[in-house]
Amino acid sequence: MRLILLGPPGGGKGTQAKRLQDDYGLVHLSTGDMLRAAVASGSEIGKKAKAVMDAGKLVSDDIVIGIIADRIGQPDAAKGFILDGFPRTVAQAEALDVMLRERGIGIDAAIEVRVPDNMIVERITGRFTCAKCGAGYHDKFQRPKVDGVCDSCGGTEFSRRADDKAETVQSRLDAYHAQTAPILPFYEKKGVLKVIDGTLPIADVTKRLKEIVEGASVG
Ligand code: ADP
Ligand code: ADP
Ligand code: ZN
Repeated sequence: MRLILLGPPGGGKGTQAKRLQDDYGLVHLSTGDMLRAAVASGSEIGKKAKAVMDAGKLVSDDIVIGIIADRIGQPDAAKGFILDGFPRTVAQAEALDVMLRERGIGIDAAIEVRVPDNMIVERITGRFTCAKCGAGYHDKFQRPKVDGVCDSCGGTEFSRRADDKAETVQSRLDAYHAQTAPILPFYEKKGVLKVIDGTLPIADVTKRLKEIVEGASVG
């Protein structure tokens, strides 16, 4: 099973991908996570990406296509994957198509988690993660059961992303509408596009996603 989660920044893609990966034995492939790891490691790619990410713009297609091509070729990806945050431009969608065709595989479903712009600032500015295990939380919508303690690992340190500030949200939304939304028709034409109401509570979004996943033809 190979899925793509589409939707605006802060729309809930990562939250849902984490829930689906365990249930369906899929690998969660987030280009945002990979780029943040590159920035943290101080690699050449990380140096190039940092300023672009902080400004809420898109990293060049060449860089992210290269990262994904490497990652999809690794053995664990053979059991299936969930792409989160990639593709984000028509050029990336086309490059992914070529990559998959060369391997004789395809996408089972491209799912748009739809959330209106006016809900995104609150989603993004309230987001934080466990510094130890990466579990995701929200100040208002997904608090840990015990304040200050991670539900998953008991960790007590949390972090917030450098780009999760109200000032950068608008440029990320602009990039989404100008560069990413145009790939929705690309998947619609292939007959694999599904739309989910991402304004629903987290558990309800998961339920609808599972209905789609279980209905999709397993390739
Ligand atoms: P994305 O990966 O699309 O950028 P995230 O999954 O990180 O988005 O979600 C952004 C923030 O919103 C997180 O803090 C998360 O806890 C919260 N969140 C995710 N889905 C929902 C939802 N359906 N309702 C309310 N808050 C949500
Ligand atoms: P979110 O969904 O919350 O916006 P991501 O973690 O997916 O965050 O991405 C964070 C940043 O990393 C983006 O704003 C962009 O700068 C960069 N990025 C991630 N994926 C891509 C991609 N496929 N193409 C270009 N830039 C990307
Ligand atoms: Zn944790």
